[in-house]
Amino acid sequence: MGLRMISVRNEYCGIVEKKGGEKAQSQDEIAAAIESENLTKIYHDDIRAVDGTSFSVRSGEIFGLLGPNGAGKSTTIKMLVTLTKPTSGRLRVFGVDVSTSPEAVRAMMGYVPQSLSADGDLSGYENLLIFAKLSYVSKKDRAERISQALQYVELSDRADDLVKYYSGGMMRRLEIAQAIVNRPRVLLMDEPTIGLDPASRTQVWRIIKQLNHEFGTTILITTHDMNEADVLSDRIAIMSVGKIVATGTPADLKRTVGGDIITLQLLSEPPTIIPIEIGKVIQTSDHTIQILTEDGEEAIPLITDYLRGQQVKIESISINKPSLDDVFMKYAKRRLDEEVPLHTTGAIRDRRNIVRHKA
Ligand code: ADP
Repeated sequence: MGLRMISVRNEYCGIVEKKGGEKAQSQDEIAAAIESENLTKIYHDDIRAVDGTSFSVRSGEIFGLLGPNGAGKSTTIKMLVTLTKPTSGRLRVFGVDVSTSPEAVRAMMGYVPQSLSADGDLSGYENLLIFAKLSYVSKKDRAERISQALQYVELSDRADDLVKYYSGGMMRRLEIAQAIVNRPRVLLMDEPTIGLDPASRTQVWRIIKQLNHEFGTTILITTHDMNEADVLSDRIAIMSVGKIVATGTPADLKRTVGGDIITLQLLSEPPTIIPIEIGKVIQTSDHTIQILTEDGEEAIPLITDYLRGQQVKIESISINKPSLDDVFMKYAKRRLDEEVPLHTTGAIRDRRNIVRHKA
């Protein structure tokens, strides 16, 4: 990244980056970027799409809104971008109410919808020009803002090509450029990487993180990709049947699912008990023992010391940590499908082999 690009980026949202890449702290960062209080949306045929949700997105954070289809995520986003009105309750963006001041809310907001909104028969530049006009970017600023947005998503050299010849990744980046051309304080992204190949997905993740880090842009994403939610989100809310059923950092939520499972392959019979302060034996067989612990990394040295003291030799150790898939299954899937046994979630835990040695 050249010096010129850094200076363009720093002035992009009018937020000055601190030395060392630390985010600038302002009064706004103390306030909530998005606040909902008992927010409810009932569609005409009595469907409670959003059923009394209360949540808060802090200024400057990346917030993941997760949930199965029909949970109410899109309806929440539609209320935020003022496409539909809440039936009751409150929804505010930086203190501004979406129902009473929709224009002021729209002026602070960028929105990347799931489906393509760009016109394939126009060039990238022409699409951005339309968005710049629609989002009230002044005539004198338009050319510069469009050029900066294109540069930010690395599409400057393809600006004059028709969008129908863009790859999926380029189209998605153009959508992001459209959403940031008005320099929003809050960016909403509905499934930002759906259908993208791994390289394009990583590129979009990088852009999302840069926007958040360099300009302090508050970003709310919805996704069904738990890895994406884990990689990007500072905090997560899980929605199910119109309600928020869990909120927290990815690490906090994973802790609510259960501890780490340590599996040891041994070269002799395992002991039938281990000290309770190390963990709880959940399974033993010929040369295998599985131990449930609160913190796997801390427990492993204690376990290996203990086994050494018992003259038991270890062939390998692996650790299974709860993943966001487990969290999702616990909070969302279970509400919809109570018969799903929770133990099946163990199959999709993150598995890490941390020691493998032959005796
Ligand atoms: P999600 O984005 O989590 O999949 P939605 O917000 O799209 O969930 O939908 C929540 C519920 O509201 C679903 O039952 C859906 O069928 C219903 N719904 C969504 N939009 C409308 C609409 N325009 N009219 C009536 N019902 C709707």
